[in-house]
Amino acid sequence: MKPPSFDLVIAETARDVTACLKEHGTDAKIIAGGQSLMAMLNMRLVKPKVLIDISRVADLDYIRRDGDFVEIGATVIQAQLEDWPELHSALPIVAKAMPHIGHFQTRNRGTVCGSICHADPSSELPLLLATLGGEVVLTGQRGKRVLKADEFQTGMLSTACGEGEFVTAVRFPAAKAGQGFAFDEVARRHGDFAVVSLAAVATGQDVRLGVGGVADRPTVLELNSEQGSDLDDKLNAFAWALGASDDIHASARYRRELVRRLGKKLVNEARDAAS
Ligand SMILES: Cc1cc2nc3c(=O)[nH]c(=O)nc-3n(C[C@H](O)[C@H](O)[C@H](O)COP(=O)(O)OP(=O)(O)OC[C@H]3O[C@@H](n4cnc5c(N)ncnc54)[C@H](O)[C@@H]3O)c2cc1C
Repeated sequence: MKPPSFDLVIAETARDVTACLKEHGTDAKIIAGGQSLMAMLNMRLVKPKVLIDISRVADLDYIRRDGDFVEIGATVIQAQLEDWPELHSALPIVAKAMPHIGHFQTRNRGTVCGSICHADPSSELPLLLATLGGEVVLTGQRGKRVLKADEFQTGMLSTACGEGEFVTAVRFPAAKAGQGFAFDEVARRHGDFAVVSLAAVATGQDVRLGVGGVADRPTVLELNSEQGSDLDDKLNAFAWALGASDDIHASARYRRELVRRLGKKLVNEARDAAS
């Protein structure tokens, strides 16, 4: 199918974007890399009257260290982050997950922030942001506000981005000495959306285990020093609490089993990697 007709505004600055959002309100939609939005338009799942293309907004094209965070501006494409020389030392878990995000062609167009704004429950970047406890920076007419990842994604394809606001950056906590990281996912083919994806961050025996692809948003379990059957029991309760359902890709039962088994593997891997 073809998209419905729309006007296209090519923004040059973040200020242009907020002015355009103010003028057009809910009739306007941001387009960044178009890797998800074009499909939504073609299927006529969204019908904005105005598209605001932010891909040429130069002031949002940055990756920088800011204290304990790595801040990534809204026009940074996924391939830019993949090629960032500090990625493996600053965000080792993102480096591990990057090859699983679609294909190199989609990573050459899709932005980091666009993936987080699209808020697909199976997407890797929202899962990583939630597991690491990252932040989203929103900018509107009244200035900036910063939300925690779990405040930003409110459900499947839904976020707390308000009318007149857009995301100008996301902030991933940088790796600290002694932390251990693990990531894995199961997909039907490499590059497909994950059936279940998991990420784990260990600080000593304390672990944050994030799961994507099961609930309507990435969900994080905090573990302390649970081992053996205590760990099995926690993972089993977590797997049930996610409310998995059957679909054409996998049964709910299979998804729960992946959360239990892959979850245990990742918890142990992350603890082993933490020194
Ligand atoms: C074949 C294929 C396979 C894929 N496989 C995967 C996969 O395995 N894993 C995965 O995670 N993704 C996958 N994707 C999606 C891909 O990663 C997209 O790049 C990403 O989801 C959206 O990024 P984008 O920059 O293209 O955003 P767009 O498509 O331009 O926008 C997506 C949504 O976010 C909004 N938006 C974008 N930027 C902002 C902003 N700064 N502020 C507010 N709202 C904004 C848009 O209005 C739109 O609603 C795949 C895509 C394709 C085509």
